[in-house]
Amino acid sequence: MTASEVDLVTLGQRLRHLRRSKNMTLDQLSAVVGRAPSQLSLIENGKREPKLSVLQAIAGALGVPMQDLLRPEAPSRRAGLEIELAHFQRSAAYSTLGLPAVRGGRRLPADALESLIGLHRELARRLTEQSATPEVARRANQQLREQMRERDNYFADIEQAAAKVLQSVKHTTGPLSQRGILDIAAQLGFTLHYVPDLPGSTRSVTDLRNRRIYLPQIASGKGHDPRAVVLQTLGHFVLGHADPSDYGDFLRQRVEANYFAAALLMPEKFAVDFLRDAKADRALAIDDFRDAFGVSYETAAHRFTNLATHHFGIPVHFVRVHESGTVYKAYENDNVRFPTDVTGAIEGQLVCRQWASRTVFHAADPYSSFYQFTDTAAGTYWCTVHVESTRSGEFSVTVGTPFEHAQWFRGGDTSRRTVSRCPDPSCCRRPPETLVDSWSGQAWPSARVHSHLLAALPAGTFPGVDAQDVYEFLERRSHP
Ligand SMILES: [Zn+2]
Repeated sequence: MTASEVDLVTLGQRLRHLRRSKNMTLDQLSAVVGRAPSQLSLIENGKREPKLSVLQAIAGALGVPMQDLLRPEAPSRRAGLEIELAHFQRSAAYSTLGLPAVRGGRRLPADALESLIGLHRELARRLTEQSATPEVARRANQQLREQMRERDNYFADIEQAAAKVLQSVKHTTGPLSQRGILDIAAQLGFTLHYVPDLPGSTRSVTDLRNRRIYLPQIASGKGHDPRAVVLQTLGHFVLGHADPSDYGDFLRQRVEANYFAAALLMPEKFAVDFLRDAKADRALAIDDFRDAFGVSYETAAHRFTNLATHHFGIPVHFVRVHESGTVYKAYENDNVRFPTDVTGAIEGQLVCRQWASRTVFHAADPYSSFYQFTDTAAGTYWCTVHVESTRSGEFSVTVGTPFEHAQWFRGGDTSRRTVSRCPDPSCCRRPPETLVDSWSGQAWPSARVHSHLLAALPAGTFPGVDAQDVYEFLERRSHP
């Protein structure tokens, strides 16, 4: 570690703490190291970056190893609060207030310091909360969807980054193995640790100081593909993500990291070769694509949307729908008309009962391959649907394309066909008259709230994640 990677405020606090614990004044220390007291004072106040030679001299004078000065922890609780105060006062949010900076030194009473820190923390919390309302989240979702649509959900720069990583570990053919993933992690300087006590609100936790990635111990068949989780985490580093500046940024980073993981699990070159052969046989099938690369159905379906339009000129839509009919995720560049609310948001809306995403739940065998043509106001679409059971219920994952492209897919000759007249309310928004007659005024349903779609993002350092859980977890792990 070099001095430039160290937080200067913390370094200064550690230096002052050590000097005082040796009962040395600034003048005494300056006499030993041969630097003006004013210079040392600037260093202690975190306002000057010391040269390595000066640091060595100071460490020598104090009789401690230089590493003691450079350690990233505050030397005491009081010093920790002073460091936090200095950081808050240097933030952009504080400088826009035009208030003076308060020095955290010894003359500031403890209760005043505690009070200032409390106010700063609350201000930061409120600013985060404001920027994480459902409206902001919906708008961010919509913007992101538009950007994905504009580029046909194909991100050339991420494909390149993934190809480069694959090259660096000499991966030359087919799907990426567990071995390959370990190689990639090692190449990027990370070690992987599978632990039983990962905080429930996280997919993974990375200790940046020791470059360790903590992952959940694999429960068979549950949750996310563990390989994808590792690669998503590494994706943030490869793609150079910094702390997200707002919710939109957070979403974009997440999409990019997921894209990166999929581009490694299903490398572009091999995936395109595979799909080209299938298309030539008029037998494109998401299940085959999944099986060839050993990924989840959703990953394969999503990856298909990355490549279908860019490489094969096939416009597509993708939608993940809960058994209740609610949309959880959606993408289209084939002009299919997803249900929207007044703000244009799709997530949380109900899809038409006639769409394959919902009719599949009534199929004789919803878990086998399911195909359907649907006539809609925007034209006729062909869809292939897969149903999966999760802890939060059953979900359908649909990939669809306009009628004229169905010919390239297995099941493109299905005779199953429905008519959707939505958004015409007489299609399926209104219950049949007979039911209305007999039940109107006699029913009192209690809605299940889809909290992740409707609630504001919890405020805090990490959106959606309990920061305390994460910090406690890392404490546990670093001091066993
Ligand atoms: Zn309908």
